[in-house]
Amino acid sequence: MSGETRPEELARRLAVVRQRIDAACAAAGRPQGSVDLLAVTKTVPAADVATLLDLGCVAFGENRVQEAGRKVEEVAALRPDARPRWHVVGGLQRNKARAVVRWADRVESVDSVRLADALDVAVRRALDTGERDGILRLLVQMSVDGDPHRGGVTRDGLGPLAEHIAGCAGLQLDGLMAVAPLGADPDAAFASVAAAAEQLRAAHPQARTLSIGMSGDLEVAIRHGSDVVRVGTALVGERRLTSR
Ligand SMILES: *Cc1c(COP(=O)(O)O)cnc(C)c1O
Repeated sequence: MSGETRPEELARRLAVVRQRIDAACAAAGRPQGSVDLLAVTKTVPAADVATLLDLGCVAFGENRVQEAGRKVEEVAALRPDARPRWHVVGGLQRNKARAVVRWADRVESVDSVRLADALDVAVRRALDTGERDGILRLLVQMSVDGDPHRGGVTRDGLGPLAEHIAGCAGLQLDGLMAVAPLGADPDAAFASVAAAAEQLRAAHPQARTLSIGMSGDLEVAIRHGSDVVRVGTALVGERRLTSR
């Protein structure tokens, strides 16, 4: 692909990802357009986000709070009329809650009561000071294999955590997020997550969003009912931010 500009590359990659999503919906007997794309831009510069906005992407996933905070401002300067939605994916430390609530529309990686409480306090403070104008939406991250290093609450811990979040005035529980364990069969992993998501929905009807599927396993995730796939590498390539 020599001679291809970065915007051309992003357009080509996005078209492939959209085709994969459409094909997976068709194969699963699900309507076209029933699966959202979260563009995971955690490793790429603001210019790429601006290009993806031009190409019709609306939601972006970030995992490093400082990098993301800068990028949010840079994108706002590059595309002042656009309204990107910013989602936090991946581990979040409680001491970053105040910074995150300034720009995050949704945190997809909530796995403890302590983190939920820190976000709730930060949201209510930011509403008071005018740094934010709405509650914060959350997904609870479920761990499929219980490995504490990769984040996520176990299936047994899911119900109590959801119950706690339901009592937090600054937060709204939108649903469930999970990552298939490394080296594991995503089919079995996503089947177990989908069953947990159904239980969660039975207890909290507004918690209807299931966020599973990444570059390597989005087809399997869509077969298991994913509502939003979080795609990084397939969309932006192996490009990495360097000097930051
Ligand atoms: C990085 C990341 C993704 C995107 O993964 P790719 O394999 O690059 O598509 C999705 N979800 C989470 C939680 C991530 O950290």
